[in-house]
Amino acid sequence: MEVDDERRVLIRIVRQRLDALRRAGVDRLPMAPLPAIGPTSRGAAVGRTRPTVAAQPVPSRPEPAPPAPTIRLPIEAPAPSGPMPIPSRTERPGAPPPVAAMLFGEPAMAPALPAEERGPVLATLAAEVARCTRCAELAATRIQTVFGEGSPTARLMFVGEAPGADEDQSGRPFIGRAGALLTDMIIKGMGLDRADVYIANVLKSRPPENRTPSLEEMKNCLPYLEQQIATIRPEFLCLLGKTAALALLETGLPLGKLRGKWHRYRTIPTIVTYHPAALLRNPAWKKDAWDDLQILMQAMGIKPPDRRKPG
Ligand code: URA
Repeated sequence: MEVDDERRVLIRIVRQRLDALRRAGVDRLPMAPLPAIGPTSRGAAVGRTRPTVAAQPVPSRPEPAPPAPTIRLPIEAPAPSGPMPIPSRTERPGAPPPVAAMLFGEPAMAPALPAEERGPVLATLAAEVARCTRCAELAATRIQTVFGEGSPTARLMFVGEAPGADEDQSGRPFIGRAGALLTDMIIKGMGLDRADVYIANVLKSRPPENRTPSLEEMKNCLPYLEQQIATIRPEFLCLLGKTAALALLETGLPLGKLRGKWHRYRTIPTIVTYHPAALLRNPAWKKDAWDDLQILMQAMGIKPPDRRKPG
């Protein structure tokens, strides 16, 4: 290839990348030195390849530190909604340059699908999941797969661990005792309907005796969850428990260290909180879970139902 051709190809690739980033909501790039083009650091927890995600403290007010120098992308992206500023990793001194990682290492998430295409795409994926036999034991013991349910254009997506007996029977996520608590959290706590959000699990098949999913099973099933997230493109994720945090944030830190602060899964602001089943076993943790929901609600611009003005 001639030098001019190579340059043209490079320019086109960079333009496409910038375009994809802009559509993903990125409106500026860090001016920190970029890593050499080549293999990037790889997450190892469940064998996925994705930029490392760092936990971020949620400041009680905007951080006073001056923002790191950035380059604005030529076209403005809409600002994230909600009154509470979600800390951007590029604004924390010493933070890894995720945008550079997305540009030169890991791909940014594909551009969002038009709303009307999301349902059919999810239906096709659900049919694929229903035929899946990647985990021989789970495929042999399940009654059916549990894909997930909710709005294909949900702003908020909850991710649990795996279906239990009730879910295996019905084919719907979170409909047993833990599901009743999650439903209360959504309806009574947040003032939303279940149909407003999307609810999915890391595993789409019930592990026998509700045992904890193995890393192999998580690795097998994770691509389905990743496709659900990429299709729905929620503005926010709420990870329920350790398995969801391990799968999407690649961290095995205890919940106590993960909850109460923002994380990011790719570009999506993410909160980790206790699994509803853990809350049923330890009701004293409900206050912390409520605090976590309030962080989410504040960022989403949602007032708790009892504080809403009548009418
Ligand atoms: N626990 C989960 O993690 N998911 C369900 O769907 C039900 C219980």
